[in-house]
Amino acid sequence: MLYQFCPCCGGRLTKTDSAAPQCQTCHYIFYQNSAPAFGALIMNEQGQVLLAKRQHEPEQGKWDLPGGFLDYGEEAEAALKRELEEELNITAVKYELLDSEIGDYVFQGREFKTLNLFYLVTEYQGTIVAKDDVASVYWFDKQNIPTSGWAFNWISKVITRWQNS
Ligand SMILES: [Zn+2]
Repeated sequence: MLYQFCPCCGGRLTKTDSAAPQCQTCHYIFYQNSAPAFGALIMNEQGQVLLAKRQHEPEQGKWDLPGGFLDYGEEAEAALKRELEEELNITAVKYELLDSEIGDYVFQGREFKTLNLFYLVTEYQGTIVAKDDVASVYWFDKQNIPTSGWAFNWISKVITRWQNS
């Protein structure tokens, strides 16, 4: 159980027969969902894909795809557009949902589940500039993408499936 206390009243949470713990005091049932996030496989006209080196912890300096977490109430495609503007200074024009994968993400010493959506971006406007969470970017041919040094194993799983599709 990730949390010990009720977010509504501070009472103690206890395990129940169902998946969600319940507050002993106010009886609030605390459902915990995976946190939604996304990654973008951006392709250029030569069919190469863009990989990013992470600027910050966790997993600073490792390979990643541009992306991030969805804000509360934000639609996935709005998050995709927002993050690509923030991190790369481009506007996504043509994109489609490619795949998804559950991840184990450690933040501030605690591990939680993430639901990672992956979008294939085949058209964008603007010139790519690495900024914000992205230290630098590199283009790779689809069959020559690094197999090690990834920040998160779920990304390499998705890339391998995409290479073999
Ligand atoms: Zn409570």
